[in-house]
Amino acid sequence: MVTEMSSSRPKIDPPRPAFDVERIRADFPALRQTVHGRPLVYLDNAASAQKPSRVIETVRRYYTDDYANVHRGLHYLSERASDAFEAARGKVRAFLNAREDREIVFVRGTTEAINLVASSFGQAHLKAGDEILITEMEHHSNIVPWQLLGERLGTVLKVAPVNDAGELLMDEFERLLGPRTRLVAVTHVSNALGTINPVERIIELAHARGARVLIDGAQSAPHAAVDVQALDCDFYAFSGHKLYGPTGIGALYGKRELLESMPPYQGGGEMIREVSFTRTTYAELPFKFEAGTPHIVGAIGLGAAIDYLREIGLDAVARHESELLDYATPRLREIPGLRLVGTAARKAGIASFLLDGVHTHDVGTILDRHGVAVRAGHHCTMPLMTRFGVSGTTRASFALYNTRAEIDVLVEAIRQAQELFRR
Ligand code: PMP
Repeated sequence: MVTEMSSSRPKIDPPRPAFDVERIRADFPALRQTVHGRPLVYLDNAASAQKPSRVIETVRRYYTDDYANVHRGLHYLSERASDAFEAARGKVRAFLNAREDREIVFVRGTTEAINLVASSFGQAHLKAGDEILITEMEHHSNIVPWQLLGERLGTVLKVAPVNDAGELLMDEFERLLGPRTRLVAVTHVSNALGTINPVERIIELAHARGARVLIDGAQSAPHAAVDVQALDCDFYAFSGHKLYGPTGIGALYGKRELLESMPPYQGGGEMIREVSFTRTTYAELPFKFEAGTPHIVGAIGLGAAIDYLREIGLDAVARHESELLDYATPRLREIPGLRLVGTAARKAGIASFLLDGVHTHDVGTILDRHGVAVRAGHHCTMPLMTRFGVSGTTRASFALYNTRAEIDVLVEAIRQAQELFRR
């Protein structure tokens, strides 16, 4: 869904065949079904993406043939599972172009990654009066952890506003970036509006003032190449389930020296070196942050999703989704009484809209009767909805397997929803 997140990722991927959306669709069994007698048109990708056979088969195979706990057993299966689990970490490292595998911490998803940083970075580096700067377009998972931290430590949350198009007001952002700002936590791409934030500039400005930067990559990782070294962000978080991988798995990237300076997030097995009742020492990175049995098969499935995406090529994915947005936008605008919410100049494949006289939930329900899956509501961005004076929107979000024909179905279904309420 991201259109122009260029990076200086080394070109190590082999040459690929041309992007063929029909061939890609054939990789996703879920797309073959009908819903209410109509072919499924799945446009709820910003919430969660469907899974290619490669991922489903990898997960099935690991549960069937290769399953064991990791890092503990000396037996054959455990060693195989450990190797596959660590290989998956290597795939995430390469995907983000991180320097070292130990900079990749497996977590449940973006939410857990941000909570980990809030708790652990907070404990090590923040004190009462220190400021955390976010934006008005953050997902609740990049708001609430900072509020919880504020309740615990007395840190102060600052919020940079957006304009009517849903673009971050950079002047305001710079003004709010003060001498007490210790951390900037910002989404790369807005899940509610599609806005692509100028994270390169944000990171540059924050670093110049001595603040660390966390990028919420939930909506950027699946849709364009991300290079954490080129970005120079301090933390980057993403979720596997939006990246065509399993649910319950995601990753936090953190610069090594920073992760080393932070205490464990949770205690338990896997994260220790030695335990006694008086003193416990902790394992090396990344295990220090991975207490308990991890989501082994989730991580391996995520590795398969990354392999799949890299074979297609993130640049081709970004191009395809950008074309879908360019196709959809004027067609949606032509619908009388439809208002797009989020019209940033740099936008990912997300179309959020309001329809005169029809409640967003009714739009969602009627579209569902046409087989079109969209999301209706606040998209876990209540403060942003308040900023736009609405309680929610209907949101169509595009992925690599969507087509122009599906957008035609969406547009026609919206027109019919409108007709129904006009009568
Ligand atoms: N940030 C953004 C921008 C998101 O879109 C989402 C998911 N909607 C999250 C964070 C949270 O991701 P998860 O629920 O996978 O932890």
